[in-house]
Amino acid sequence: MKILFTASECVPFIKTGGLADVVGALAPVLAKKGHDVRVILPMYTAIAQKWQEQMQYLLDFDVQLGWRRQYCGVQMLKKDGVIYYFLDNKYYFGRPYIYGLGGDEYERYGFFCRACLNALPLLDFSPDILHAHDWQSGMIPALLKIQYAHLPFYAHIRSIFTIHNLQYQGIFGIKDVQDVLGLGDGLWTSDKLECFGCANFMKAGLVYADAITTVSPSYAEEITTAYYGERLDGLIRARHDSLYGVLNGIDVDEYNPETDPLIYKNYTVKDMSGKAENKAKLQKDLGLKVDPDVPLIAMVGRLSNQKGLDLVDCVIGDIMNEKVQMAVLGMGDARYTNLFSWAEQQYRGRLAARFAMDHELAHKMYAGADFFLMPSLFEPCGLSQLISLRYGTIPIVRETGGLRDTVLSYNEYTQEGNGFTFLNYNAHDMLNVIRRALEYYREHTDVIKLLRTRGMKGDYSWTHSAGEYVKLYQKLTGKK
Ligand code: ADP
Repeated sequence: MKILFTASECVPFIKTGGLADVVGALAPVLAKKGHDVRVILPMYTAIAQKWQEQMQYLLDFDVQLGWRRQYCGVQMLKKDGVIYYFLDNKYYFGRPYIYGLGGDEYERYGFFCRACLNALPLLDFSPDILHAHDWQSGMIPALLKIQYAHLPFYAHIRSIFTIHNLQYQGIFGIKDVQDVLGLGDGLWTSDKLECFGCANFMKAGLVYADAITTVSPSYAEEITTAYYGERLDGLIRARHDSLYGVLNGIDVDEYNPETDPLIYKNYTVKDMSGKAENKAKLQKDLGLKVDPDVPLIAMVGRLSNQKGLDLVDCVIGDIMNEKVQMAVLGMGDARYTNLFSWAEQQYRGRLAARFAMDHELAHKMYAGADFFLMPSLFEPCGLSQLISLRYGTIPIVRETGGLRDTVLSYNEYTQEGNGFTFLNYNAHDMLNVIRRALEYYREHTDVIKLLRTRGMKGDYSWTHSAGEYVKLYQKLTGKK
């Protein structure tokens, strides 16, 4: 099958979160299965020089965006059996940020969506499946169906839209989006593109894609409710028959404690002694007291309300009253950087916070910590808990979305489970389960060892889920 991914980020080229990990890991797995997989991405200047040097200029064309005519170059790079195309326009993507600041996101990603579709005949690539990821690609299924499907080149293309996070929808003024994409007034009704008086890129994808997927079965159910539906739950309920929850995997080669070059010392499930060294060196590097007996809880992730940081804020004093250390790595909202900056001063030598996108430190924290805390308000899938499990770091999570599908709370009667969980979005419920985990750490090392071993032995690869996507592609196209 010929499969095209369109996305706004993808490892190893550019990453702000899990979307990049998923696109970057799934594409090569599908290619390995024998499919012709290509990925179209924006050519951000932030893409490392090392990758830019390996790109090859293919062609360029002009993109008509309302009254604008914009240059679009196509650079190409082949890696792990996948062809990556980078759409180059310095005005839109030659900026010192990836998202957000310019106030013209509708034009940047409107350009991206239009250019993806226009590039295909020039690249002589007519995919069977066009798989669009998140709101930045949301207009692609809509444009395909509204403006392109009558053309023979595009007529057979089936589209899939994957929700990686329903919170980010790409909401703009209708007039602004019309000015860029030229979608006539008749299309702006609530059953088509209009959404509470606005244009909404994600809604466009949800309405017009042939199938919708999201990144865990639980999240697929949750987003049909008002609590998790981010005002699109009605539409998602209406499309329930076309909605699939496919659990994300992780790149098990990149995240492998046995071979990971970024951690202090490699270790295996048979010989976990190296984990202690990782902990000691991490404690030292972060300015924490080096002490093997104090449990270390790590948090790595975007500092946003999604990640349950309000719960941590609420009981940070109680957590730190325990014999425990915390290490936090993340970038995001000022209220959380303020919180953890304050806490670092308050609990000097016991709590460390780093506010950066630091890939290497993230690996070191996954390897060096005893527990990984992820009390998310909502979590489409979550990769961090999977990475933690793989490194023998025990997750403490809230039972929501993908966390619910991947972490099972330890059951002291049956000995089942691979972590510790709580259900309600409540700070003291979280605190109690942290205390429970710490008690096992102090008094039941056998249980801690069992959970670590079980975590490290789990299968978090893409093997199963890639198969699920292929089944869906086959169902949509009728091809084998
Ligand atoms: P989300 O997609 O909501 O941000 P996920 O758990 O799905 O959350 O994926 C987050 C990914 O980004 C993980 O691989 C995590 O390790 C990584 N990550 C998040 N913040 C940072 C950071 N500040 N430095 C390094 N890696 C980070």
